[in-house]
Amino acid sequence: MKTLRGIAVSPGIAIGPPMVIDGRRISAPRRSITVDGIPAEFERLARALSLAREDAEQAQEEARQRLGPQYADILGAHARMISDPSLERDSRVRIERERVNAEQALAEVLDAYAAKLEAMPDQRLAARAADVRDIQTRILAQFQTTDDTTTTRGGIINSDSPVVVLAPDLSPSETAGLDPAAVLGFATEAGGRASHTAIVAEALEIPAVVGLGRFLDQARDALVVIIDGDDGLVILDPDQPTLDRYRRVSSERAARFEGLANLSRLPAVTLDGHEVGLWGNIEFPLEVGACRDRGAIGVGLYRTEFLFLNAEKAPTEDEQYEAYATVVRSLRGQPITIRTLDLGADKLPAYGGLGSTEANPVLGLRSLRLSLREPELFRTQLRAILRASALGNVRLMFPLVTTLEELREARRLLAEVQASMKSAGVPVADHVPIGAMIEVPAAAIMADKLANEVDFFSIGTNDLIQYSLAVDRTNEAVASLYNAADPAVLRLIKMVVSAAATRKIDVTVCGTMGGEPMHAVLLLGLGVRNLSMPPHQLPEMKRVVRSIRLDQAQALAAEALELDSAEAVANRLRNALLEVFPEAPSQGSGAAPG
Ligand code: PEP
Ligand code: MG
Repeated sequence: MKTLRGIAVSPGIAIGPPMVIDGRRISAPRRSITVDGIPAEFERLARALSLAREDAEQAQEEARQRLGPQYADILGAHARMISDPSLERDSRVRIERERVNAEQALAEVLDAYAAKLEAMPDQRLAARAADVRDIQTRILAQFQTTDDTTTTRGGIINSDSPVVVLAPDLSPSETAGLDPAAVLGFATEAGGRASHTAIVAEALEIPAVVGLGRFLDQARDALVVIIDGDDGLVILDPDQPTLDRYRRVSSERAARFEGLANLSRLPAVTLDGHEVGLWGNIEFPLEVGACRDRGAIGVGLYRTEFLFLNAEKAPTEDEQYEAYATVVRSLRGQPITIRTLDLGADKLPAYGGLGSTEANPVLGLRSLRLSLREPELFRTQLRAILRASALGNVRLMFPLVTTLEELREARRLLAEVQASMKSAGVPVADHVPIGAMIEVPAAAIMADKLANEVDFFSIGTNDLIQYSLAVDRTNEAVASLYNAADPAVLRLIKMVVSAAATRKIDVTVCGTMGGEPMHAVLLLGLGVRNLSMPPHQLPEMKRVVRSIRLDQAQALAAEALELDSAEAVANRLRNALLEVFPEAPSQGSGAAPG
């Protein structure tokens, strides 16, 4: 048995056989063949290509049903790449010329395609190499399936035998491609607590641990792996007592989650009678159902850029409208906060034309800056959102606002679009509240000015922590320095809450911190009254809110603001909350069934 420690990013317990996906697992064996063997290799090649294409099409259909058309598109692109006649033609030439087996020939052809792409200076073209590697794995798996009836299906896992996925890293879109019926949990060598991969794992409710550092070589031969998404542990080949303990924990937490479901209709009110708004975060329209079922009062953050990420081209106004309208309608009058595009940095679409190759993309042309630099893209999105506003209770917010000028420019464009729609007779809601996300220290410091010009604030703590502590939120090497409880972060949040209180506008926290029980207590103590989180965290948060007194949270927050370090704040919080929750909710813990 070997226990490895990483970063807990999506709660729950997964126990199962490992599937290592690192591009090395499925390697092409090299065999020399005779001239007489060539036709048989041609046939094996054709069969594997046809099965891989069917497999990609099936995965595309599954993704369409689960996550919507935009995510399905990437798998559609895989199917088309596999069907490209030049792939079969080039592979046949190699079989004949080099007298090698079909999988070796195919692997060499795709290696050459990927190498060519990787050498391209354009980052987006270079990123297509990952797609080529994906289809290589997918096709090579088919040789294994037809030859040895192996259950591996390159990157897409056979749901007959669910597995625990272990990988060097998974991109947000690869994570979105995981089928929760087939993938019990995953663990990666890279990654951080607030990365977008972590956000997608939580959306899909797949237990996950990231940032383990190099561990795949030790894990390759394990028979059973436990992923403990609550405490950030990965256990290779657990001994019997450990296995028994985790099985017990897993069924207890499933029972507890069921018990918490009863809270969904009860109000989120503290013991001393203060109401707290609990909202859901969504990336995919389908998550709205989970928000409603788990008692959210609305959607506090809809990350619309996920519509763009795996698309072949930017979604049209009508396509965007359809997605927004679906969400607005399914909320049946509950408020929905649609965030305009937050593209850039690690969220660049697969198609070209947006963003650029930058030395420091997190400080570069991302988010609202990018939207303002691409006014047609921005106007199209604003029109789609405004059309959807006629169907329900839509709030609109701008991400990564840094300066007042930037906010004014965004509002000016919005007013222009609104006016032209009205004069063209397009139905639009009479009042669409406008919010600014506060996720840059400059905006927190200028919150008193910004508060004069918006209807609400939403604090994006993932970025606010990243920028105030100068710690990359996705980099495991500095993950220990990324800390929501840092007094510097708390002081910035306090400034924002005070500015909003003076101007009497609402503040929501929609970053990961807002869904973390201990940190949420601090936020309530700092004056935040609205928290938005992945839907699976809502029941546990309801329990937390209903178990605490606001005056105690306020005293704790006041103390925390004066402490010297994140560690001192965390210790103080832990001790204080042990009295309220003898079983001490762990920091990342929600309570999805594991
Ligand atoms: C944040 O930064 O906290 C946030 C909610 O936005 P995202 O995680 O999408 O960057
Ligand atoms: Mg952000």
